[in-house]
Order: sequence, then C-alpha cells, then structure tokens
Amino acid sequence: MSVSQILVLGGGVGGLVASNMLAERLGDRAKVTLVERKDKFQFPPSYPWLMLGMRRPDQVQKDLGALKKKGIKVINDEVSSIDVEKRVVGTKGGDLYYDHLVLALGAEYALDAVPGFREHARHIYDLESALRFKDAIERFQGGTVAIGISRTPFKCPAAPYEVAFLLEDHYRKKAIQDKVKFEFFTPESSPVPAVGPEIGNKVAELLRSRGINYHPKLRLEEIKQNELSFESGETIPFDLLFCVPPHVAPPPVVEAGLTNETGWIPVNPRTMETSHEGVYAVGDVTSIPTPSGYVPFLPKAGVFSHGQAEVAAKNIATKITGRGKAREWDGKGSCFLEVGGGQGAFVKGNFLAEPGPEIEFHMPGRVWHAQKVIFEKYWMRHWF
Ligand SMILES: Cc1cc2nc3c(=O)[nH]c(=O)nc-3n(C[C@H](O)[C@H](O)[C@H](O)COP(=O)(O)OP(=O)(O)OC[C@H]3O[C@@H](n4cnc5c(N)ncnc54)[C@H](O)[C@@H]3O)c2cc1C
Repeated sequence: MSVSQILVLGGGVGGLVASNMLAERLGDRAKVTLVERKDKFQFPPSYPWLMLGMRRPDQVQKDLGALKKKGIKVINDEVSSIDVEKRVVGTKGGDLYYDHLVLALGAEYALDAVPGFREHARHIYDLESALRFKDAIERFQGGTVAIGISRTPFKCPAAPYEVAFLLEDHYRKKAIQDKVKFEFFTPESSPVPAVGPEIGNKVAELLRSRGINYHPKLRLEEIKQNELSFESGETIPFDLLFCVPPHVAPPPVVEAGLTNETGWIPVNPRTMETSHEGVYAVGDVTSIPTPSGYVPFLPKAGVFSHGQAEVAAKNIATKITGRGKAREWDGKGSCFLEVGGGQGAFVKGNFLAEPGPEIEFHMPGRVWHAQKVIFEKYWMRHWF
C-alpha cells in the first residue's frame, strides 16, 4: 500500500478542520502534515470578548502540538514558496513534497495600504492587536470613538458592527456614555451587504437605536492623528479609532501565480479544487463569485472555511481510497452578532442558493449569545 503525502498549509480554521478529517479518514493510507507559523490555533470569533477583558488569551487559543496524538505531523514554520508544477512547498526548514495540497493560508493585512493606519489605528484582527486595543479601551475617558472598515473584502462582515455595539454597551455600563460619541464608517452601501438590504436595514436601525452614527459609502484615504479623511473629501475627527485593516492574500500564493485579478485564489465553488491537479484551496484565501448574490463575491468567514475544508478533505480521501462519493459544498453559513448586555443576533443562510441567497435574521436575544458561547467551547475542544 502506498502512502500519500498530504500537505495542509495554514493551521487556522480551514487547516485545522482539513488536517483532522484527513487523518481520521485516511489513517495509515496517508501522511498528513500541517504547516503553520504560529504554534497555537487561535479563535478570532472570541476577540471581541478579549478586547473587553471578557476572555483571557489562554481561553481563546490551543496548542497545535496536541494534533500529534491524532497522527498529524505539525511543522511550526513559515511557508516561503509553493511550486505546483514540481509539487513542492518551501519552508525555512527545507522543502516538503506532496501528492495532495490544501491551501488554507487565510488573509494577511496590508497596513501600509492606508497612510497613517500603522500609527493611529487599532483593530482586533489578530490576538496581539486585540490586546493592544483592550488597553486603549481601558484608558479612554471620553470623546469620539470611530469604528470602521478601510477596504473590502475583509473577514467576518459582522465583526466591526459587533465591535461598535460592544463598545457602546461597555461605555454605557461605565456610565460615561454622555461623554462618548460613536461614528461608524464603511465603503459599503449598507451594513453587512452580503445578507441583503432588508437585513442591512435592521442592523442600521440597531446602530441608530444605540446612538451610533452610520456613514456608508466612505472610502478611507488617510488617517492622521485624531482625524480620518475620505476620498470624497469628508473628514471625521476621532479620539479612539477601531479600523478593519486592508486584507490581501499571503505572499507565497501570490508569488506562486495562484491568484487571479481578484487578488485571491479562484476555485471550483463546490469542490474547492484549483486549476492545478491535486491542489485545493479553502477559506479566506479564495474568492468565490456569487452570480446571484447581493455582493459579487462570497464574504470571508470561518464558517465557510470550515464547510469548504470538510468537502476538500472528504474528496481527497475519496480519491485516495477509491471509496465513497465526491462531495459538494452547499454554500451554507451562519454568524452571530453580539450586541452587548448578554445578547446577540443571528444570521443563517445559503449564500449560493438559486435564484438568490436564502437568508434569515434573528433579532437580538439571550439565546444567540448563549449559542455563541457554545460555539466557542466546541471550537476550543472538538478538534484537539
Ligand atoms: C474579530 C474576528 C471575529 C470573527 N468572527 C467570526 C465569526 O463569528 N464567525 C465566522 O465564521 N468567522 C469569524 N471570523 C472570521 C474567521 O476567523 C476567518 O474567516 C477564518 O479564520 C478563516 O479561516 P482560514 O482557515 O481561511 O484562515 P485562518 O483561520 O486565518 O488561518 C490561516 C492560517 O495560515 C497561517 N499562515 C499564513 N501565512 C502563512 C505562512 N506563510 N506560513 C505559515 N503559516 C501561515 C496563519 O498564521 C493562520 O493561522 C472572525 C474574524 C475576526 C478577525
């Protein structure tokens, strides 16, 4: 029996799911190797809680070394090159050869794409930045809090709204809300456009009801000390700034020529295969057109990465064993939107449905907050 070499690049949501499922399904038939620069898996949906001190860092990360007991080899290294013709991946520690490759490298942040971002903006798009923002939130005594989105696409379309609601709730509880003004800016035309205008209006209404001023269609040009300037010529002053950083595909996939004009990797949206034999891509690193969706491309979210990784892993296993049927990804996903006060809203749907997306929205309630806590516990336990 020959042993297939499977490389999974990236130990975030998609890579964790794919490597687990491949090892479980293939056992001795394959050698599954996961390459990740960090030694821990980190869970970004908990970062909004981390920024408010509602979670400690050790509660939202897990040691990837624990995957060894599942038969997964974890290499803690930086992927520097990918050659899909020669089927080799370069790392600092040497070359790795593969028969099947799963690209789950996510997105990187181009902080210098917006002048002044690096110096003046805070965000929670990685754990260390979320902790720095926590300190800034604690120091803030009043003034204008600006919350916004620099560029699309970005991960988790609900996250910046969640940040706005949670900050408003936080300063209300600290009883300094009279001294705080909230401004939300985005280049999008309505909140969370991927879910359509009807649900977007409900989110806009929630923002209004909390006194958060909403400014759509504003593309950020520059951040100066205490002032945002937009391409339209408008400006917004601020004392505390949260801004989603510009996202780009990781350099090794761009340099390997795997991306297209969108800047991301095109895939078959049902099988996650790329145009290269034996090479799959899942999650944030991909771009999937939604011909009948509300937005031209599927948003970037962990729930999609999870579903896509399952499909890629099952199909690789089927190819290797010759057993089972090929699977197709269903385009389904859901997302929580924390609004503070122990409450959350919930969105669920099929984003690739024909003739158009089928999406439902559940208004804020305690049940959805409780469900998000269960979702977090599942992620921190199930895969390790
Ligand atoms: C604040 C916040 C809240 C969120 N909330 C939700 C939510 O509630 N629901 C939801 O569905 N999604 C949510 N998301 C989005 C979700 O986290 C991402 O969409 C998801 O993690 C994407 O999975 P992925 O596997 O594609 O990429 P990632 O999980 O980002 O994994 C990519 C991995 O590749 C590694 N990597 C990259 N380049 C290299 C390299 N050259 N060498 C070695 N390793 C490399 C990275 O270190 C990373 O660990 C949230 C995101 C944020 C930031």
